[in-house]
Amino acid sequence: MVRVRFAPSPTGNLHIGSARTALFNWLYARHSKGKFILRIEDTDKERSKPEYLDEILGSLKWLFMDWGEELVFQSKRFGIYKGYAQKLVEKGLAYFEGPAIIFKVDKAKSVSFDDMIRGKVDFSTDDIKDQVLIKTDQTPAYNFACVVDDSEMKITHVIRGDDHISNTPKQVLIYEALGLPMPQFAHIPLILSKDGGRLSKRHGATSISEYKNMGFLPEALVNYLALMGWAPGNDIEILPIDEIIKLFDVKDVNKTGAIFDMDKLSWMNGQYIKKMEPARLAKETENFLKDKNIVDDKFDAEKWRGITAAYRERSRTLEDFISVYRIFFSDEIEYDEKAVEKYLKKPNSKDIMNRCKTAVESDNKFDKASVEESYRKLADELKLKAAELIHPTRVAISGKTVGAGLFEMMEILGREKVLKRLSKFC
Ligand code: GLU
Repeated sequence: MVRVRFAPSPTGNLHIGSARTALFNWLYARHSKGKFILRIEDTDKERSKPEYLDEILGSLKWLFMDWGEELVFQSKRFGIYKGYAQKLVEKGLAYFEGPAIIFKVDKAKSVSFDDMIRGKVDFSTDDIKDQVLIKTDQTPAYNFACVVDDSEMKITHVIRGDDHISNTPKQVLIYEALGLPMPQFAHIPLILSKDGGRLSKRHGATSISEYKNMGFLPEALVNYLALMGWAPGNDIEILPIDEIIKLFDVKDVNKTGAIFDMDKLSWMNGQYIKKMEPARLAKETENFLKDKNIVDDKFDAEKWRGITAAYRERSRTLEDFISVYRIFFSDEIEYDEKAVEKYLKKPNSKDIMNRCKTAVESDNKFDKASVEESYRKLADELKLKAAELIHPTRVAISGKTVGAGLFEMMEILGREKVLKRLSKFC
């Protein structure tokens, strides 16, 4: 049975690249009906923090990655590593240097392994120094603890970032010295920024929590991350997680780096919003706004549902709904100054707004269809194109040039609010 692990160090929030590593492991486990296990690499007592662990676990759960078995904490296993290190000392393959235990690396030998993605990888031991197994402070070194744990946890496939490729020959030597069977290795390409470098803070948000906070949906993020180094073929991009599980295989992962493109991710998120069931979109956006303390007690869920449905086609993130909320529920709307300049500061702007106001006042029905009719009639009367009324009205009542259909917006806002906002520009 396939047994894979994700081994985060709780020294920071879950990084987007680590989330992708976790995802590939999880997908492979699901695809092959195996197990996905978590190992917490908390050997650095100073830098490991429980709040980071909570954040990492929370982010994994948010991205639907569930795990089997109990968490393995390296900090609880120091005695075990010591025992293995002592065995190597007894065999004459390691030596003490003060309180530290060091692994001897014979020179002029080649070490190789078969990587599921890169094929055969060769190293020479000439490039590998003797390896610390147990440090002076008695904590284990990463490469050593990793081998001991992967072996004890019966891990069959080690799927991790390319940045670990130079660690692998060192681990192979330790497996050989301990006489332990080796897992299969798969090194996945790093996620790069658009400028080709490693993805860092400089390029924007790097942690999963930040993406959640910016209004990305977990299913969109999972879909996007799955495409960072893997593709289902036929240019298909949007595909539900169950489909991804069915099609995903580690051996199909690309050798070259994947480029993280925020615009693409936003586009994809928009596709998910568009397809979302209206009741769920209303709820998700409501929760999002509540988390941000934007919603007040005047919140009208029924009305909100109509609003979110009207904006579904045009939104990319849940964050976009903050300004939508303000348009409909707040008295102070934010005006796009350029739009005001362009559409509401013309010589005839005041006259036009006045006429629109009159049309609104005398529209007794005031629903989407009736306002549209009133506006079309007025445009005929004034010998103007309907757009010449529609654009300024939209900016006057919402502050923006884009949004849901104008007449739909007007109906939802209600006559009173529309009149009040038009009056500002009369
Ligand atoms: N704690 C290591 C990391 O986060 C794990 C590497 C591995 O998967 O072996 O990079």
